[in-house]
Amino acid sequence: MLQSVSGLLLLFILFGSLFLDARVWTTRDGTKSQGELIEVEGDRIGIRIHDRDYHFSINRFSDQDQDYVRQWAEVSRCPVCLRGLRGKTKRTSTDEFHAECFRCMVCAKGFVGGERFQLDPWGGLSHLHHGKALASCGSCSRFFVRSKAKPAQLFADGRVSCETCFQDGILDQRLLEKVLLRIKPVMRELGLSEPKGSLSLHMVDQNILSREALKINARGNLRGLTLTKYKVVGQRGQVRATFEHKIYVLYGLPHIECVSVLAHEWAHVWLNERFIESTPPVIEGFCNLVSEHALGQEKSKLSSIIRENMIKSDSPVYGAGYRRMKQRLAQIGWSVLLKEMKAKSSPP
Ligand SMILES: [Zn+2]
Ligand SMILES: [Zn+2]
Ligand SMILES: [Zn+2]
Ligand SMILES: [Zn+2]
Repeated sequence: MLQSVSGLLLLFILFGSLFLDARVWTTRDGTKSQGELIEVEGDRIGIRIHDRDYHFSINRFSDQDQDYVRQWAEVSRCPVCLRGLRGKTKRTSTDEFHAECFRCMVCAKGFVGGERFQLDPWGGLSHLHHGKALASCGSCSRFFVRSKAKPAQLFADGRVSCETCFQDGILDQRLLEKVLLRIKPVMRELGLSEPKGSLSLHMVDQNILSREALKINARGNLRGLTLTKYKVVGQRGQVRATFEHKIYVLYGLPHIECVSVLAHEWAHVWLNERFIESTPPVIEGFCNLVSEHALGQEKSKLSSIIRENMIKSDSPVYGAGYRRMKQRLAQIGWSVLLKEMKAKSSPP
């Protein structure tokens, strides 16, 4: 009995030191949740709640919480453990680390002067030279050591998923349908109504996705794809079309990335039913804009990372196309933008 009490005590102490800064947050409307502040960027803050990282606007929280954030942000912090810098530290051209945190997650050795290393967006550090021993999550770019991962995190088609993304992974059809249900109201609100034709979702691996994509001459690092079959009946001037849409999505994507992919593909379905045709940067830029809007409704840090990748993408189609669409949206708003897209319609 005594032994189990001391065991509990030990656990408590460990818990206390690991989650030193966990506190209760109160929103302006009185909702409370417990979490640890992990980053402050302008008026956006990151809070870790139950091991998940979320981004919120600082204005959402009480004055007392905002004071806490300001004080927290004044302290210089180590990017790995997020605690204040004190004692022995190591400085690079961009960051400063606790000396004990400045080590490689693969070989566990501390970095020495002149060695080249890489830092992921989550504070993970590794030497550059570890090759395949280091894995970088295909969804959130988090580093992890391949030999320490669960076999299921290493997908048969060569993709890899970090533990967090894998836990949120959409691996069965029922969950995939649920994600679609989640984005439907957001799509409706934008003006992208339900398709008239049939719509089916298919979870596939990278190989099948690439093979299906060739049917419409699409290639590259695809995560989703829409194939629309249509039949036109009637005479010129009085045609009626029926549609059959198939949306393909890679299996195992974390929930948030699935939101982004399904919103993008939903936009394709909307365009296809209206026979809207244009150049790839216009079409894909528009679909990414819709995807970004859906991501904007989500609070997780992963949604910010995916949005940022879109904003910074150097792809002339998905990146440049998206940025041009985003500019246009800022000028004219959603409803006029949808009208502009509809004007590109050319039914058979
Ligand atoms: Zn540290
Ligand atoms: Zn190393
Ligand atoms: Zn991940
Ligand atoms: Zn697309």
